Amino acid sequence: MPVDYDIRGTIELARRLQPDARRLVVVTGASNWDHQRQMDIRADLENLRSGLPVEYLAGLPGSDLGARLAKLTRDTIVFTPGYFADGAGRSVNPRDSVTMMAGASGAPLYVLYSSQIGTGAVGGRMPAFSQMGRAARIIVDGLLEGASASSIAIPAAIPSQVQLDWRQVRKWNIAADHIPPSAVIQFREPTFWEAYHKQAIIAAAVMSAQAVLIGALLFERRRRRSTAAALVESEERVRLAADAARLTTFSWDFARDRSAANAGLRERADPPQRTAESFEHILQTVHPADRERLGLAAHRAAANHTELDVEFRARQPDGEIRWYAARGQRTATDSDTLTGVKMDITARKTAELQAEADRAALTHLSRVATMGQMSAAIAHQLNQPLAAILGNAETARKMLGRKDASIEDLREILDDIVAEDNRAAEVIRRLGALYKRGEIELSELDLNDLVRETLNLLRAELTMRKVSPVLELAASLPAVRGSRVHLQQVLLNLVLNATDAMTAVDPGRRTVVVRTSSEAEHARVCIVDRGTGIAAGDLPRVFDAFWTTKANGVGVGLAICKAIINSHRGTLAAENNPEGGAAFCFTLPLAGSA
Ligand code: ADP
Repeated sequence: MPVDYDIRGTIELARRLQPDARRLVVVTGASNWDHQRQMDIRADLENLRSGLPVEYLAGLPGSDLGARLAKLTRDTIVFTPGYFADGAGRSVNPRDSVTMMAGASGAPLYVLYSSQIGTGAVGGRMPAFSQMGRAARIIVDGLLEGASASSIAIPAAIPSQVQLDWRQVRKWNIAADHIPPSAVIQFREPTFWEAYHKQAIIAAAVMSAQAVLIGALLFERRRRRSTAAALVESEERVRLAADAARLTTFSWDFARDRSAANAGLRERADPPQRTAESFEHILQTVHPADRERLGLAAHRAAANHTELDVEFRARQPDGEIRWYAARGQRTATDSDTLTGVKMDITARKTAELQAEADRAALTHLSRVATMGQMSAAIAHQLNQPLAAILGNAETARKMLGRKDASIEDLREILDDIVAEDNRAAEVIRRLGALYKRGEIELSELDLNDLVRETLNLLRAELTMRKVSPVLELAASLPAVRGSRVHLQQVLLNLVLNATDAMTAVDPGRRTVVVRTSSEAEHARVCIVDRGTGIAAGDLPRVFDAFWTTKANGVGVGLAICKAIINSHRGTLAAENNPEGGAAFCFTLPLAGSA
C-alpha cells in the first residue's frame, strides 16, 4: 500500500504553528537512505516555495549537530526525517537521532513519522497508521470473500493527518488557535476536570455539604442565641410576675417527709437556700383552723395524683398571720414529690373578708329595718298576750277577794297566764333571733314550718294592712339545708314587698299566696301577690342594689335576698303573673342532694 510521507504537509504545518518563523533548518544524516531523503526534501521544498531561507545540515557528526541545533532560536523551524548514520559514521536508529536533536535544539522540531512523536519533536503531518490498518482490513476481507485481486480498489495513498505532542506545543508556546481542528494530539495532560473529576465532584459535594453544615450551624447558633435570649427574657418576665404575685415555690417529698420552699424565684438563680423540714413541722406554722384542711388536701393530692388547690392562713416568723393560696401536683406519676407554688393572697382575702363583713352588716341592717317596719305589728302581737295576762291576773286577784274562790279556777287562770306568757316569750325569742347579728349557720330545715312561723310573725302586720295570707304548702316537702334566720329574712322581705305592692288595691282583693313545692333536687317557694306588678322594663333591675320605686324605699331588700339565696346555691327570680301582680320564686337545693 503506497505510503505518502508528507514532507510538504509537515512544513506547511510548521509554518502554520510558527507564523513568525524566519528560517527553516533541515537535518539529514550521512547514510545512503539519509542522502536520498535529503534529495526528496530539497525537491519538495523547491516546489513549495515557502519563502523561508532554508539551511541544510546534512551528514554532521552527532556532537557537532547538537551544538549547531542548540544555537538555534525560537524563530527557526527544524525539520528532520531522522537519520540512520551521522557524519562520524555512527549508526543510529532514526527515532534516537530525533530524540538527541530534540534534546539539543533551541527551536521546535518537526518530524515525518508517527513513531517519532514522543521523542521531543512538536509533530508533523504523517500517515495515520490506524487508518492504514482499517484500509488493509477492508482489502483482506474482500480477498477472503473471493473477490478477484483486480477488483480490489487500492487507495492511492494512506491519508495523512497532523499529529502533535501536546507537551511540546506547550513548551514552545504554540498558540492553540493555530492548531488545525483535525489534528490528533498526543500526550495531552488531562485537564484538571478530566483527571480529577471524580475527586472534584466528591470535593465539591463535601464542600457544599460543609457549607450547608456551616450555614446550619450558624443558623442554629443564632437560633440558640435568640432562644437563650428569649429564655432569659421570659425568665425575667416570670420572675417579675412571680415577685409581683409574691410567689414561693415548694416541694414536699412525701416518701421521706421532707419539705422545702424557696422564698422567691429571684433566689433560684443563686444556690437555693433550702431548709428541709418535715411536713408536720410546716403545718405547725399554719393557723389551727386551717391546719387539718391543708394537711388533708396535701395528702389527698399526693395519694390520688390530684391537684392541690387550697387556701390557708399561716403565721410569719414575726407573728403576723397571712393568707396563702397553694397549688401543686405530683411532678410525675412515679415521683414521690409534690411540687407547686404558694401565693400570698392576704390583700385579696382581706378585701374579700371585708366585703363579706360589709355584706353581713348590710344584711343585718336591712333585717333590722324590716323589723322596724313591722314594729307596730310586733307591738300589737306582744300586746295580745300581755293584755291576756293582765286580764287573767286581775280576774285572779278578784277571785282571791271572794270566799268561794275555787282552787281549780285559780289554777286555770294561772295556767292561762303561763301560756300567754310563753306566747309572748316565743314572739320575743323569734324576733331576738332576727335582731341578732351572726354568721350564717346552716341546719336542716322544713320550709313549710319556716313559712308558717314567718307568717305568724307577720300576722298582725298583715291584718293591719288588710292583706289575707294564703298558704299553699306542699303535702310533703323534703328538708333543705339553710340558715333559718336568713331564709326568714328573705320570706319577710318578699311578703312585705307583696303587701306594699297591694296598698292601692281594693282591700277585698289583697291576698298574698305563699306556695311551696319540690322538684327533683330543689324545693321551691313562691310569693304571689295581686298588686301592681313590675313594669316590664324594670324587671331586670329589681335586684339591683339601691333601686327603688318607693318614696321611703332604700332598694337593698331584694339585692340582699338574692345574695342570701345565692349563698345557699339557690336562685331567686321575679316575674309578672298573667292575671296581674308579681311573683317572686326562689329555689333551694334539697338537703339530700349533692
Ligand atoms: P325597697 O323595698 O326598699 O324599694 P327592694 O329591693 O325590696 O327595695 O325592692 C326594689 C323595688 O322592686 C321596689 O321599689 C319595687 O319597685 C319593686 N318590687 C319589689 N317587690 C315587688 C312586688 N311584689 N311587686 C311590684 N314591685 C315590686
